Amino acid sequence: MDKTDILSLTKSELSAEIANMGEKSFRANQIYDWLHVKRVTDFTQMTNLSAQLQEELERKFCIKSLKIKKRLVSGIDNTVKYLYGLPDGEAVESVLMEYKHGNSLCISSQVGCKMGCRFCASTIAGWVRNLEPSELLLQIYETERDSGRHVDSIVMMGIGEPLDNFDNVVKFLEILNSEGSGMSLRHLSLSTCGVVDKIYKLAELKLGVTLSISLHAATDEKRSSIMPINDRYGLSELMKACDDYFKATGRRISFEYSLIEGVNDTDESADELIKLIGHRNCHVNLIPINEIRERDFKKSRFVERFQKRLTDAGINATVRRTLGADISAACGQLRRDDAEN
Ligand code: SAH
Repeated sequence: MDKTDILSLTKSELSAEIANMGEKSFRANQIYDWLHVKRVTDFTQMTNLSAQLQEELERKFCIKSLKIKKRLVSGIDNTVKYLYGLPDGEAVESVLMEYKHGNSLCISSQVGCKMGCRFCASTIAGWVRNLEPSELLLQIYETERDSGRHVDSIVMMGIGEPLDNFDNVVKFLEILNSEGSGMSLRHLSLSTCGVVDKIYKLAELKLGVTLSISLHAATDEKRSSIMPINDRYGLSELMKACDDYFKATGRRISFEYSLIEGVNDTDESADELIKLIGHRNCHVNLIPINEIRERDFKKSRFVERFQKRLTDAGINATVRRTLGADISAACGQLRRDDAEN
């Protein structure tokens, strides 16, 4: 029988398992604390449990871990890029970045991706599998352990589409929220290419997560040409879902817009964006596109001009600062390089 992945259990799931073993309920709290606060890697380290209970846990459960396959440290700004090996030999990336307000960790949500965005390296070799809740958490735990730095905020903007791994992501959020690390889900941004039915489901849960929408174009024609998800959920449906999310949670939506030369960076494109989102309480994050070798999309030369046009129209628009320029493999590129070697 396969052992149960204990780090993937929410507190109530763990409590039910421990009660089934005939143990008192405070034992579940102790075990949860060992796993998520003290972060032990072995049941024998749970020193306030009897040796007999430690052995029983060992028979029934496993404590997963990640292996650091690669660690790239920027000499410029303390950015650290990790390639994490998963228990089954697959790998995903996480990136630790330092901002004025603290350390932010970008984590992956799937091995590969099925969304097919034309400019993205993570999707080229397709989708392999979803990450388990434990594998989402361990990216944070392992990064904090290895770097000795506290992660103050999390962005789900690494490899994969978080809303395409909905159930595991929600469990991960529940564990993170209950774990006592002092991190509120307000400090977590979940980025989606626009899986509309799951945006509604997330709004219903009222977890207080910040929603980032990867927009990248403001007409259906342009958006569909670079993001296949737009054929499934067009812009009007997406905008309705964003409005619903804002109404349900009070959280301002953030729109990501990666500027690609000649595709979405003209004055006309800026005006289309102003028309689409101008009346909303939102924020636009402009990203100079990361060129990837498999595609011929080029970085726009008009980032400042585009930004000015938005801010002149009263839209809150910032340009994402480039961090770790000396280790600047585009998202998903590290994993692809590793698979090719
Ligand atoms: N699937 C989710 C999260 C992962 S992608 C999403 O689509 O939002 C994280 C962000 O990086 C998205 O905004 C995505 O569109 C953007 N992105 C992907 N490839 C990029 C590239 N080559 N240059 C700049 N941004 C890119």
